[in-house]
Amino acid sequence: MKIVRTVADLRETVNDWRKAGLRIALVPTMGALHQGHLSLVEAARARADRVVASIFVNPKQFGVNEDLSRYPRQEARDAELLDGAGCHLLFAPTVEEMYPAGFATSISVTGVSEGLCGAARPGHFDGVALVVTKLLNMARPDIAIFGEKDYQQLAVIRRFVEDLNIGVEIIGAPIVREADGLAMSSRNVYLSEAERAIASALPKTLTRVRDQIAGGADVASALADGVRDLLAAGFASVDYLELRDARTLEPLQTLDREARLFVAARVGTTRLIDNLPVRPL
Ligand code: AMP
Repeated sequence: MKIVRTVADLRETVNDWRKAGLRIALVPTMGALHQGHLSLVEAARARADRVVASIFVNPKQFGVNEDLSRYPRQEARDAELLDGAGCHLLFAPTVEEMYPAGFATSISVTGVSEGLCGAARPGHFDGVALVVTKLLNMARPDIAIFGEKDYQQLAVIRRFVEDLNIGVEIIGAPIVREADGLAMSSRNVYLSEAERAIASALPKTLTRVRDQIAGGADVASALADGVRDLLAAGFASVDYLELRDARTLEPLQTLDREARLFVAARVGTTRLIDNLPVRPL
């Protein structure tokens, strides 16, 4: 696997591939890779001839009090994992390469980016939209793969790709979980042993609430019970537990269409997110 750090080097390689008629997939990440990320590379390999992964801890998607400086960075290990997964090219730029002096552009997506993580993390999805737009413009892939772990992010990306006529197919990949159901996340390394034990209540509670709602329970009371259960299990706070339209992310009070159940909760200082599909019976 080749590693490039500049836009010019990235373009040179992907342009050669494009001239050779090869189909190119992009898998953007922030590194500290786990099986969830590698499943995206696998999905990319199944659909394209060449896979480009990017590792970039994007400062523009972190709020002032968030974990930008302590976000786990382990590029050498990540490169080995990507190589083993059959990735062809790693783009790992510096912050200066992505945002040179004088950089002055922002992208803002309304609607799907509001509420849920958009409420708890102001400006987060603007930062995501900006970096993903740049990566798509740089690599010009045929397809780009994102995890349903960050379902709202996937909805935001689908929205601006359509709105801005970017001409790439966006593919969502299922959430990869630990044995106890906890969604894999680079941030799980922040958890102490005791916090990790509490964290396992997140997928369990989400599944229980999902089953209640799918079985016809009153949505508001199922959600209220879920919040109470998470706090009782040891979560410090629950940012949200909400039922939304699976496509538009519009809030739902009743299960009258294809829906998605979303949660964000804090254990200690670590914020965990998860989501599940909910289908009317
Ligand atoms: P991140 O490095 O956290 O920015 O994530 C990079 C990509 O990997 C995003 O598209 C995420 O949705 C995806 N991803 C992260 N964790 C998982 C997981 N547990 N299962 C599937 N995809 C994931």
